[in-house]
Amino acid sequence: MPKTTCPRCGAEVDAAVALRNPVAPTPKVGDLGVCLRCEGPMEVQADGTLKAIDLHTVADDPFRLLVIAILSIRARKREGWTP
Ligand SMILES: [Zn+2]
Repeated sequence: MPKTTCPRCGAEVDAAVALRNPVAPTPKVGDLGVCLRCEGPMEVQADGTLKAIDLHTVADDPFRLLVIAILSIRARKREGWTP
């Protein structure tokens, strides 16, 4: 994915990972994700940048996946992993 920054914390974002797929996905417009550093939810825009989104405005299914992603990131951080 093209290099961009997290709209919340400014962390450099240049790759994506999927929760249940070992192959790195190619983000598409409208895809949702979570910043590894600040755990903020975001959405891929047409120009390749990321827009911060409010987790509470997301539909139920993507909401569950985003929460799972946030909890997974937190668990890895508790184990000592740093993004
Ligand atoms: Zn961030």
